[in-house]
Amino acid sequence: MFIDDAPGPVFRPPSEARSFILRVTIGCSHNRCTFCSMYKDSSYRIRSLAEIDGIIERGARAMPYVRRIFLADGDALVLPTASLLHILKKCYDTFPQITRIGAYATPNDINRKTPEELQALKDAGLDILYMGIESGDDVVLHHIRKGTTGERTIRAGRKALAAGMKLSTMILLGLGGKERTREHALHTAQVISAIQPTMLSALSLIIPYGSPLYEEVRAGTFTPLTARGFLEELACIIRDIEVTRPCIFRSNHVSNLFPVGGTLPQDKESMLLNLETFIPQADDTCPLLNDNGNF
Ligand code: SF4
Repeated sequence: MFIDDAPGPVFRPPSEARSFILRVTIGCSHNRCTFCSMYKDSSYRIRSLAEIDGIIERGARAMPYVRRIFLADGDALVLPTASLLHILKKCYDTFPQITRIGAYATPNDINRKTPEELQALKDAGLDILYMGIESGDDVVLHHIRKGTTGERTIRAGRKALAAGMKLSTMILLGLGGKERTREHALHTAQVISAIQPTMLSALSLIIPYGSPLYEEVRAGTFTPLTARGFLEELACIIRDIEVTRPCIFRSNHVSNLFPVGGTLPQDKESMLLNLETFIPQADDTCPLLNDNGNF
């Protein structure tokens, strides 16, 4: 739910479906990832605090029952800490029933903040960050122009958790293509194990029409995984993740071929058993391509 006349699409994590979406930026400050077309047509800007205050006031008048707020667009944590503290206070002062505020954050956004800044944001009510890891493999991260490395992603995730925030992370199956599926799986599991996030979602790669990655497939330099390849990669990642704290794991997005879910580490074996039972039934065609080899 949102009250806004700003142009451009609005995205939020599935778990924020009932939240009031407060767009503190329009678009994504990075906007370079080769697989992402979410904000390609948005002209990026940080909204003024006066503009944001006005939306909060209108939202609270129209929906005083709101209990959760999600700060959008693509990487709300890019805002200066002073601005975020102002917005958090305004939200808690204006919406009478708020219990939680969350935001998207890139690893670079988190690493730019000091531990003290992150602690101040947590103390002001920023409870959960959603961080797209995508891959733990530096070659893949460089290739997709994520603008970070596995080591920087680990540092960011640990910083958010050390501040007491919940950390929901996303990885993208198939992002290394056939060429790098083993490294993508291995290094992604290593990064997850090093962070030990609160939540982990494994989505499957969808290649947007006209994106740089789409052009690579057309040129034959990136080979998308087959249905079986996606599932084998997912099994490798689950098998290799070693966490000692509970991590809620979901791979049940509309992009996924087979729903898998549970809590790591205790549900690891049952999730693997389900998956490995289904893998032989998956075929060797690419779910992204039609019979003619086109999207
Ligand atoms: S940082 Fe996120 S929103 Fe921005 S381009 Fe990359 S994937 Fe898309």
